[in-house]
Amino acid sequence: MNEADKNPEKPVVGVLSLQGAFREHEQALEKVGARPLKIRRRRQLEEVQALVIPGGDSTTIGKLMVGYHILGAVRHLGEQGMPIFGTCAGLVMLAMDTVDGEQSLLRLMDMRVRRNAFGRQVNSFETDLEMPALGEESFPGVFIRAPWIESAGDRVEVLASHEDHAVAARQGNLLATAFHPELTDDLRLHQLFMEMVTAGSR
Ligand code: GLN
Repeated sequence: MNEADKNPEKPVVGVLSLQGAFREHEQALEKVGARPLKIRRRRQLEEVQALVIPGGDSTTIGKLMVGYHILGAVRHLGEQGMPIFGTCAGLVMLAMDTVDGEQSLLRLMDMRVRRNAFGRQVNSFETDLEMPALGEESFPGVFIRAPWIESAGDRVEVLASHEDHAVAARQGNLLATAFHPELTDDLRLHQLFMEMVTAGSR
């Protein structure tokens, strides 16, 4: 029996686990009723209904995705409508390009990002974010060498901004945050993602 079969009634959500902060995402996904599955090989993508791309170092994650022949497969699944949630480096991976130079990206979301954008002043910080899509209560934004969205096309819905820079966005089946919801107790973004999963495009 493979891991994904243990709880057939729960949606299986892959967590790309090549590099970065994937364990906290697995825990958050369990709490919102998903069955997380670590993704390290392309074949494992066949078992999942959705995918989380965690924080870490986007250059490294991109290189590993190419090396493990996962990048093209994930891009294809995203284009087909599979829900993908990228946090921090994961947001960078979802972008079309960065202002910082060439790197391997999924190029799924119509946005350009700036890496380590807040980091010039301060490496990490926490701030309350207004996120109307989640309700009235603000969301605790944990930023660690975070990117921001430099510019975005019409298809991209900005969900939160900090100091006039977009830091969370959605485009159809794709969700991205510059901050780390998995490092907080607030599960609303993982819940929103699960709504996208159960609304089911696959
Ligand atoms: N600065 C990293 C990058 O651009 C992201 C940092 C993070 O994921 N916490 O790859």
